Amino acid sequence: MNSQPEEGKMNTRKSRIGIALALIAAMLAATAIYVHAKQAQGNPASVAEKENAADTIAPAVEAFPMQVATNGRPDYMNNVEYTDSTHSRVKIAVDSSAVDLSKAGEYPVVFYAENEAGNVAQAKTSIEVIDPKEKIIYLTFDDGPSPNTPHILKILRDNGVKATFFVTAQWPKSLPYMTQAARDGNVVAAHSYSHNFKIYSSLDAYFADLERIEQEIEKYTGQRTRIVRFPGGSSNHVYRRYHPGNRQWIDTLKAALLKRGYQYVDWSLDSKDADGNHVPVTTLVSSACHTYHPQMCLLMHDAAAKKTTVEALPAIIKYFKAQGYKFGTIKSTDYVCHHGEHGMWPN
Ligand SMILES: [Zn+2]
Repeated sequence: MNSQPEEGKMNTRKSRIGIALALIAAMLAATAIYVHAKQAQGNPASVAEKENAADTIAPAVEAFPMQVATNGRPDYMNNVEYTDSTHSRVKIAVDSSAVDLSKAGEYPVVFYAENEAGNVAQAKTSIEVIDPKEKIIYLTFDDGPSPNTPHILKILRDNGVKATFFVTAQWPKSLPYMTQAARDGNVVAAHSYSHNFKIYSSLDAYFADLERIEQEIEKYTGQRTRIVRFPGGSSNHVYRRYHPGNRQWIDTLKAALLKRGYQYVDWSLDSKDADGNHVPVTTLVSSACHTYHPQMCLLMHDAAAKKTTVEALPAIIKYFKAQGYKFGTIKSTDYVCHHGEHGMWPN
């Protein structure tokens, strides 16, 4: 009779309401468990054991390392990314209980991403608290990996120091060296896939090239990066050949890059190894070895023809060690070293 389908409809409606209520209850329960576990036991992972018949897939969550000045205010939420296959809403929580912002050092941070069905994923990263008065040299190598990369890595290891590599895909056979670089504790960041200045012809061209090198970085290190160095630096003029009527086009690119969550890094010291392929070691060492600021970022190149850079590296490291400098790596978008601007650490 007629009542049957009506009843069926009613049941469907009732059960939908029931599922909705159950979901809300699950979310509330999860929140409660979460807060309790984090505060009382310091182990929010127990939430991950919650089960839900409808959706058992946790969100995908990725966390990025952070750096902050002592007594600064880290922007934790700016350093986590997540996607969820079935739920649009994801709740993010951070466990920063191990962090002491008053004391320089490196501390673990754990992010938890929970979707509406209560599935929880976690991502671990770190925050480095830096004393702005501390002497730190950031050794950076552009253009590799190249056949010289293993030699550079060995010198870094032998001296117990680390560096930041802004990589390209100019020597495809050398790409796997990124894995060892990262394994040694160096930072692998993006320079350009092609290193062809045509990347400056449009925003689309730039970001397509950036995406390609990011994929290589992820393939060989397991991590994407948000740290970028522009070919030619942010003060380059080469882009002007593609934008003759717009001398400020690079500002549009810089703004677009920052808006997408990246940070670009220039340098405050130049080894001058880009002046030619056989710049004498003595010239490189005298160009690189200056200490006019407690925190310096030194530009060098990791390229097949730059053998003298490799030869100069031990003397450069020795100099900064003798001056009492620590060797840092550029891990986060918090690090600001822009040509034409002052100040290195935000508060
Ligand atoms: Zn370059």
